[in-house]
Amino acid sequence: MKTGKRSAHHNQVGDHCSRWTVPREEIFNLLIQSQQHLSAKEAYAILNPSNPAIGLTTIYRTLDLLDRAGLVRRVNTGDGQVRFEYRRGHDSDHHHHLICTGCGKILNYRDFEKEELDLVRKTEDILAKKYGFLIREHNIEFLGLCPDCRPGGKNSPLK
Ligand SMILES: [Zn+2]
Ligand SMILES: [Zn+2]
Ligand SMILES: [Zn+2]
Repeated sequence: MKTGKRSAHHNQVGDHCSRWTVPREEIFNLLIQSQQHLSAKEAYAILNPSNPAIGLTTIYRTLDLLDRAGLVRRVNTGDGQVRFEYRRGHDSDHHHHLICTGCGKILNYRDFEKEELDLVRKTEDILAKKYGFLIREHNIEFLGLCPDCRPGGKNSPLK
């Protein structure tokens, strides 16, 4: 069976969507290509100028759909906007987040501290035993203020 470019991702979305349309494909592609976490409004600002058929409602619906299909991850930032990032699915993509509640900036980091990895592993073991829970993944988000938003700015003390 030949899969046209337009429906390239329809099989991934599968049961979650019977009508996988071109705008939906474009929204999904944007997330796949972007290294960033995008809100619906940001996606709209990028896509709408070249494709006026892509409205904000379509974007909200599509992001919701992709979220339910497990293809994107929802990241809540302190500024009340929900942002989305594509789940690349391979281990090398695993990262934790530092989220600025002042400006909504999200920093991905993969250079984990040894203490951090030890703690996560140990905690997962304990929780698995305590609750009989098979843990498959985790999301780690630290919320706070980035150097630009910290009172007193970059050179202010952290404590
Ligand atoms: Zn982790
Ligand atoms: Zn900030
Ligand atoms: Zn991320």
